[in-house]
Amino acid sequence: MTVVSIDNRPNVMVSLIIPVHNEETAIAPFLSAVHETVDPLRARGIDFEFLFVNDGSRDTTLEQLIEAQHRDNRIRILDLSRNFGKEAAMTAGLDACRGDAAIPIDVDLQDPPTLIPLLVGKWREGFDVVLARRCDRSSDSYMKRQTATLFYRLHNLIASQEIPRNVGDFRLVDRQVIEALKRLPERRRFMKGLFAWVGYRTAVIDYVRDARVSGTSKFSGWKLWNFALEGITSFSTVPLEIWTYIGGVISVGSFAYGAFTIIKTVFLGIDVPGYASLLVSMLFLGGIQLVGIGILGQYLGRVYNEIKQRPIYLLRQDIEAPAAPDNLVAMDAMLRRSADQP
Ligand code: UDP
Ligand code: MG
Repeated sequence: MTVVSIDNRPNVMVSLIIPVHNEETAIAPFLSAVHETVDPLRARGIDFEFLFVNDGSRDTTLEQLIEAQHRDNRIRILDLSRNFGKEAAMTAGLDACRGDAAIPIDVDLQDPPTLIPLLVGKWREGFDVVLARRCDRSSDSYMKRQTATLFYRLHNLIASQEIPRNVGDFRLVDRQVIEALKRLPERRRFMKGLFAWVGYRTAVIDYVRDARVSGTSKFSGWKLWNFALEGITSFSTVPLEIWTYIGGVISVGSFAYGAFTIIKTVFLGIDVPGYASLLVSMLFLGGIQLVGIGILGQYLGRVYNEIKQRPIYLLRQDIEAPAAPDNLVAMDAMLRRSADQP
């Protein structure tokens, strides 16, 4: 798809949204890698805001961020009141960012900052969403890769909205898309699905996902399983509705078997044995009913959580950098000039 460039603004700002949870060792390498790639873009009229969302870290992450802010006034810190999870932290970032576009990015350098100029370039060509797709996930474990494949396959089979495979949260979204995302009210946020749901003109860039630069992944097997459940239940009601069909098939089968038994009894007389088939069918039906009720519970739990209308996150503080000294100088000069005027 070719898109005519529509974005000719001379100066634009891009917000990097960086959720951090116990990442004291990752911040310094992240900032130096990011500076290296984004600072040259300044000459092209592209400025950056580094919006860190401290998601209830219990180590020195916040202190490190504040210290980094003294050296770089493009850093802004949203400090959440506790750990709300990455999805909520990203939502906080998207709500608060001021850029003409935003890029959610992990602090562990698994989303390579070298891709940022490419994402921005595509955006300037006129795309509203630029996805970064992992074409090689060999840095992830075998299990994680397999389960991820299975998840995408199942999700896209039954969900109302397909999510692109192997695309994480690392992507660029235009201001228009940010505003659209803000209008989605759900409390439990499966961001990959929400990003896909809003649509807009989309371009894709492929990259190789590296291993974590330091620290360990915050997503264990159990968390990932729940994350997958969240994705499927947020965007599909198939698991809820499929019971109508399963029940239908079993009823038709039972009816046919009942009719067969009656006819057999009429013609061949009463047949006492049948203990095994009785037991098997009872257990089978009992099991399937429990699964059905469990799935109802999954959805009901989510309805309950949505209906409580609790906020997605709570902000403890929003730490802005003090205005740059050169801004102050410029403002001072302006005030003097206006004072000099008659
Ligand atoms: N993260 C967060 N809150 C959490 C868990 C993770 O803000 O509760 C952040 C984390 O600091 C990192 C990003 O989300 O910047 C991705 O986390 P991680 O690298 O652990 O996930 P993985 O790459 O293993 O999927
Ligand atoms: Mg990671």
